[in-house]
Parts: sequence; C-alpha cells; structure tokens
Amino acid sequence: LEVIGAPYFNQKHDLRGAVLVFHDVTEFKRLEQIRKDFVANVSHELRTPITSIKGFAETMLEDELDKELEQRFLSIIYKESHRLQLLIQDLLDLSKLEKVDFHLNYQVIQLDGLIRESVEMAKVQAKAKGMDLTIAGEEGLELSADYDRLKQVILNLIYNAINYSPNGGEVTIAAYNSSGYVKIEVSDNGMGIATEVLPRIFERFYRVDKARSRNTGGTGLGLSITKHIVEAHHGQIFVDSVVDEGSTFTIMLPKEQT
Ligand code: ADP
Repeated sequence: LEVIGAPYFNQKHDLRGAVLVFHDVTEFKRLEQIRKDFVANVSHELRTPITSIKGFAETMLEDELDKELEQRFLSIIYKESHRLQLLIQDLLDLSKLEKVDFHLNYQVIQLDGLIRESVEMAKVQAKAKGMDLTIAGEEGLELSADYDRLKQVILNLIYNAINYSPNGGEVTIAAYNSSGYVKIEVSDNGMGIATEVLPRIFERFYRVDKARSRNTGGTGLGLSITKHIVEAHHGQIFVDSVVDEGSTFTIMLPKEQT
C-alpha cells in the first residue's frame, strides 16, 4: 500500500486536517519483482554457456593440446553454443507471444493429422530411448486453432514426456470430445513431479532439476511458452503427476473461436 498525504488548510490558512490518498501497489510491486527476476535469470542462463565457451577457446589458443583433448574441448564449445541458440530462440518466441499485437492464424484443424505428424517428428527421440509413442482416444475431432502453434504445444509435451522418463517408457497422446471443447492428454510413466513444485513448472526458467534439464537440452522455457499458446487459444493447461509413476498434461481447447 502506498500512502500519499497532504495537509489540508481552510481559507484562513488554519490547518484543519490532512488528505490521505491510498494506492494499492502490491500488484505493481509483484510484477516489477517478476520482471527483475526474469532479467536476472536470463543473464545467468546466458552467462553460463558463454563463460564455458570462452574458457575452452582460450585454453585451446594458449596451449598446445593433443588431438583428443582438442576434440573434447571443441565438442563442449559446440554443445554450449547450441544451448545458447536454443535459449535465444525460446526467448524470442516468448517475447513474440507476449506482444500485444500477437495473433494466431486460426484454421479448421483435423486433430488426427496433427497428432500423427507430431508423433512422427518425435519418433527419433523416442526410439533413441527405446520408448513407445501411442495414439489413443477418439478419432475425427476438429477444432479451430493455429496449426503450427498447436503442433508446437503437443511436441513440447511429447519431448518433455520423453526427456523426463527412463529408457523403455511409454508416452500416450489421447484426444477426446468434451462438450464444446477438445481435450488432449499427453501422459508418461516417467519420473513424475512432486506435488509441492507442481504449480511452479509453468514459470519461466523453473526446473525441478536444473542439471538434468540442461543435459537433456532444456531451456526451462518450454512449458511457459506452451501455456502462453494454450491461453492465447482461450484454452487451459493442467498437470497431474505422481513421483516415480508419471505425469499427465491435459489441455482443453475450445472447438470454435469467436
Ligand atoms: P525444460 O526445458 O527444463 O524441460 P519446461 O518448461 O519444459 O523446461 O519444463 C519445466 C520443468 O518441469 C522441467 O525442467 C521438469 O523438471 C518438469 N517437467 C516437465 N515435463 C515433465 C514430465 N513430463 N515429467 C516430469 N517432469 C517434467
């Protein structure tokens, strides 16, 4: 609460009291804090790979290294620059989604085709971990949505399901009709997420395990981008999860956009 006060005088200039104006600045302060945290997080996330790239390049320039060590350093430099690239891509995407004039290209979508295409794209990653991707639920569902953005959402959830599951796990993508809405579920039988951190996973840069997320190439921005896209479609995203049993991400999207 911000209070602005001023003395109140009558016409004879006698002090008669005070005028107090109360402003609720809690929300403003909270948003300001989120913005500051975001800038600090971005800086930190950018600095880590740059420090490593610079350090290894410096050593290579200064020291005579054998071929094997040189290859090892180069592959670290490559991996870290790749990380930087993904991070910058996600940051640009997030800022695009947050622009006031951001709009979606709505078209009538056959959900079967979109899900099949997403599964096809994620197959290589799944196969590398000996995992199965299964399509279930109802067929023939249609909705009005932005094709590329919806595919991005589904792929994001599938990649997460693969990344946070042990080898040999199973990922199921199912769609259902739900009176005026289409319900899409992506479930895995992976590591799951503890109840107390569940509400935080949609926050920018929040990861349950930073090291693990980095190793799997995660930027920590995927779910906040996903949530933005779902909400831009006037939909909602939910998560249910049990540690060591698995997670289900559910999105509800209106069939029609007005
Ligand atoms: P990241 O790039 O780290 O994957 P996300 O925003 O996509 O970022 O996800 C945030 C965090 O939520 C992840 O770091 C992980 O801890 C957790 N998470 C997301 N999806 C799953 C899942 N299917 N199973 C378990 N944990 C998950």
